[in-house]
Amino acid sequence: MMLKPDWERNVRRVEPYIPGEQPKERNVVKLNTNENPYPPAPAVQEILSGFDCDELRLYPDPDSAVLVNAIAEFYGVKPSQVFVGVGSDDVLSMAFMTFFNSGSPLLFPDITYSFYDVWAEVYRIPYQRIPLRSDYTIDPEDYLIENGGIIFPNPNAPTGILESTDTVEQIVSSNPDSVVIVDEAYIDFAGDSGKASCLPLIEKYDNLLVVQTFSKSRSMAGIRIGYAIGSEKLIKYMNDVKFSVNSYTMNRITQLCGAAALSDREYFTETVDKIIVTRELAKKRLAELGFTFTDSRSNFIFAEHRSVPAENIFKALKEKSIFVRWWSDPKISSRLRITVGTPEEMDRFFAALEEIVNG
Ligand code: PMP
Repeated sequence: MMLKPDWERNVRRVEPYIPGEQPKERNVVKLNTNENPYPPAPAVQEILSGFDCDELRLYPDPDSAVLVNAIAEFYGVKPSQVFVGVGSDDVLSMAFMTFFNSGSPLLFPDITYSFYDVWAEVYRIPYQRIPLRSDYTIDPEDYLIENGGIIFPNPNAPTGILESTDTVEQIVSSNPDSVVIVDEAYIDFAGDSGKASCLPLIEKYDNLLVVQTFSKSRSMAGIRIGYAIGSEKLIKYMNDVKFSVNSYTMNRITQLCGAAALSDREYFTETVDKIIVTRELAKKRLAELGFTFTDSRSNFIFAEHRSVPAENIFKALKEKSIFVRWWSDPKISSRLRITVGTPEEMDRFFAALEEIVNG
């Protein structure tokens, strides 16, 4: 008797993460994936314009030294404390593979970046979602249970809420047997002249890994640069895994563009400040239209209208070529996540929104 072939039995099956829509048409207002509405620093354009195509014959530097050194200098840490990857998604994925290998559950908030449970599933890491308080803040006491690691974004996504460095430190200091990852994808929009970041804590805790990205505050989502900063030990372990998967993750152009972007501090501060100003103005206008929202310290606002369901608003906006993000998960389905665009984009958004909610 012939057995039915069944190669599918051994397939690693996962339900993939669904990124926000990237519409093909032009002239849309795109406020759905937390991209930066301003161009990258002018120094990046100079690198691209001057790049000699012949260089592409050669493999890139597997250590990405130019980029790693530039990041280390920017943050005042040693190059051996910096790990770089293809966007922070790549960095986070590597960190999951490297650090979360225990039988105890990885802990993260119940409302958070929806990639965490996908990585946990793909790497077969047990996990437990920890409910946020009713105001969407984290209670550090909830993270005193047995665990095989902890991860949360700060500010959190999609709420935009910033936890104090004291709260972060409480979680890290009470979990010396676990690696704690703080995903600071949006930290540059928190204001406070950089003091909101928990980076200074890495000198005190060798189990704390801070992950950041060039995708948001540096306007470079399309080139894919993310990085982690932590103790030399953590970074060495991550590099050992990375070099066991793919040595050449960062291509030549990307390494140069990343370093160039870091060289222009003034442009960086200027664009980030513009977004913060636009965000605060958007909060006022949303309140006038009958929305409530969390006090976002990121480049997006998580808002709910007092009477019109978020799904209806999301669909009506889309018909007007304005894209925001909405999730059907009942815990957050009453809300929209609106990325902060340029003042002109926000004007178009608010004109459409007013029509929708006021009829
Ligand atoms: N972390 C959080 C909380 C995010 O919202 C995102 C953006 N989707 C990322 C990480 C990944 O961003 P990137 O890979 O572009 O660096």
